[in-house]
Amino acid sequence: RLYNEVQDLKGSIRVYCRVRPFLSGHSSYLSSIEHFEEGSITIKAPSKHGKGSKSFSFNKVFGPSATQAEVFSDMEPLIRSVLDGYNVCIFAYGQTGSGKTFTMSGPKDLTEQSQGVNYRSLGDLFYLAEQRKDTFRYDVAVQMIEIYNEQVRDLLVSDGLNKRLEIRNSSQNGLNVPEASLVPVSSTSDVIHLMNVGHRNRAVGATALNDRSSRSHSCLTVHVQGRDLSTGNVLRGCMHLVDLAGSERVDKSEVTGDRLKEAQHINKSLSALGDVIASLAQKNSHVPYRNSKLTQLLQDSLGGQAKTLMFVHISPEAEAVGETLSTLKFAERVA
Ligand code: ADP
Ligand code: MG
Repeated sequence: RLYNEVQDLKGSIRVYCRVRPFLSGHSSYLSSIEHFEEGSITIKAPSKHGKGSKSFSFNKVFGPSATQAEVFSDMEPLIRSVLDGYNVCIFAYGQTGSGKTFTMSGPKDLTEQSQGVNYRSLGDLFYLAEQRKDTFRYDVAVQMIEIYNEQVRDLLVSDGLNKRLEIRNSSQNGLNVPEASLVPVSSTSDVIHLMNVGHRNRAVGATALNDRSSRSHSCLTVHVQGRDLSTGNVLRGCMHLVDLAGSERVDKSEVTGDRLKEAQHINKSLSALGDVIASLAQKNSHVPYRNSKLTQLLQDSLGGQAKTLMFVHISPEAEAVGETLSTLKFAERVA
């Protein structure tokens, strides 16, 4: 194995909190954020008796003015570890509208500066692979799937939403959704093209009232195979980049039918994810991977030698304070 600085990071679960800026037209006067610094954030949480506040600690806190480049700036060791044959999971967690897709992909009108973690990770991956080209030959391929109502579907084929895929044991070739399209990529522009295909296919399943993207998990998986040119040994690493479904609690007295079913599935899979990460963080011997499709999918990339980074997103508005507190409590449990 190559020397790998990530191995020095014990526990290998890191949690970063990111605060979305106020969107245009809204005043920052009504913020729920009391203050934040490098590794902590304090929320105005009034109690029955009036004023109150609650603080949370994380590996890092990014305020509303943090740029995409700053958010990505210390992720290179993670990318390097994928090339060294380790598995990595990067999540975006938070209520709908808190900035998950912004962090992972970017805004709708994407520029190079506003590119999110997905593009930057792949860009770094290609860059670092190129630097090693005298000693390693790397092949990179991606899959893009969504999990909606506990069903796994392929986002890279146009009729993919019609077909349910199975999650299998990946020990043979590193692929645990073998039926999902696996597309070789060799540049960031290949990846941009594929992500556009995925987003388009996903949008087909949505209607105006049914923004599917906020109620399903989407996962871009990057599979890397490296051959050591001197020994012929092959190593395999993979990186899951996951834009989770919105974590907001829906009022069960207000939704029925499909909406209620979706809410229950999301609730179940996000708590399963929380349970898995929390039990890994506590070094429990039993890790409950089997409780949701999401945790089954990510099983090989959570725990063991794998590295996990969770971005938890919060909206700054005072009226979101209930969701903000529940997001931060979720994150505190896994941090
Ligand atoms: P989510 O995916 O969690 O539902 P989005 O990423 O779609 O949320 O963000 C909601 C809106 O806020 C979008 O218009 C997005 O472009 C904007 N936004 C989110 N985070 C930021 C940020 N850090 N800087 C500027 N705009 C942001
Ligand atoms: Mg989104």
